[in-house]
Amino acid sequence: MAMAWLPREDQAARFAAEQPSTDARPAAFLDRDGVLNVDRGFTHRPDDLEFTPTAIEAVRMLNRAGYLVFVVSNQSGVARGYFGTEDVEAFHRTMAARLAEQGARIDAFFYCPYHPDGTVARFATEHEDRKPSPGMILQAMRDWPVLPARSVMIGDKASDVEAADRAGIHGIRIEANVCDLAAVVAGFLRQQPPC
Ligand SMILES: [Mg+2]
Repeated sequence: MAMAWLPREDQAARFAAEQPSTDARPAAFLDRDGVLNVDRGFTHRPDDLEFTPTAIEAVRMLNRAGYLVFVVSNQSGVARGYFGTEDVEAFHRTMAARLAEQGARIDAFFYCPYHPDGTVARFATEHEDRKPSPGMILQAMRDWPVLPARSVMIGDKASDVEAADRAGIHGIRIEANVCDLAAVVAGFLRQQPPC
């Protein structure tokens, strides 16, 4: 099961309570390291959070277009003992706060702390959530009213695109750290009918 920094059920329930209708919406599944923030290798300290050049604008654009926005992130540093789940969750809280300051919102964060080569026994296993497996995307689609046919996963690795394929959604691979994410999102949205 993917882990979120707030119980996903709470986030989904809050979302449902805030929405005037339960109509399904398209979703953008965003990889984290290299896509939203500069990947420094097992990035986990809030002080190391540096957004990629147009990440905040990209998230805001997706919010305005009516997309649900999810982070789906492999965090094998937990299994490897480099940092704990509380560090991942603190990083996500910081990311959410920094985005909120600029009018951008991630609806939910999903991350996978597992890795088969881990040193922390609890997390040292292969797991259906670990990309290229599609577990986190499928979990989000169970918890939230997602329209898969108009959804997209954007990542910087082949495993991100494979996870998208296996979840049955469109996948886009971008260059890590330096990509103009807002331009990629704008290009994708131009090809979509309005919500
Ligand atoms: Mg990445």
